[in-house]
Amino acid sequence: MSIQKIAVFPGSFDPITKGHVAIIKKALPLFDKIIIAIGTNSLKNYLFDLDQRKDHLKTVFKLESNIEIMTYKGLTVNFCKKHNANFIVRGLRDVKDFEYEKNIAIMNNKVNSDIETIFFMTAPEYSAINSCIVRDIINNGGDISQFLPNEISDLI
Ligand code: ADP
Repeated sequence: MSIQKIAVFPGSFDPITKGHVAIIKKALPLFDKIIIAIGTNSLKNYLFDLDQRKDHLKTVFKLESNIEIMTYKGLTVNFCKKHNANFIVRGLRDVKDFEYEKNIAIMNNKVNSDIETIFFMTAPEYSAINSCIVRDIINNGGDISQFLPNEISDLI
């Protein structure tokens, strides 16, 4: 029996954007399963609570049998180990993302050398989409529909 290739895509997804969806779709053919792992950090103020963010992800990926949606607390590498995932998927928009992600990937690999981070470049049309700016637009009553998956902008 071959070993399953399992990847974790960790993030806040507050809210999930078209940028996240595009990264997951790029990664999907490379793995047997992707676990989208919603991180919970008690120090962060979220716009959408954990159940809402989970519902958003479940709605967007309801037809994808190779995607699981989970939540977690603590170190991403520990979550990976618990679920037999040897890969972390992350998206890159620009050098700022690269600088930030590079250090986390190196540190994660030092903490657990079985776990490798795989990066996917964003599509140019999504490179400016950022959940933080989307939250700001929502908080100020603007229209965010072009940045979010259709199923989600209908809900929000
Ligand atoms: P975090 O709170 O860890 O930054 P996010 O939910 O903002 O989590 O993002 C999770 C992952 O998705 C990160 O790797 C981030 O770089 C990536 N990402 C976010 N927005 C985009 C986008 N528009 N295009 C590509 N990747 C993105």
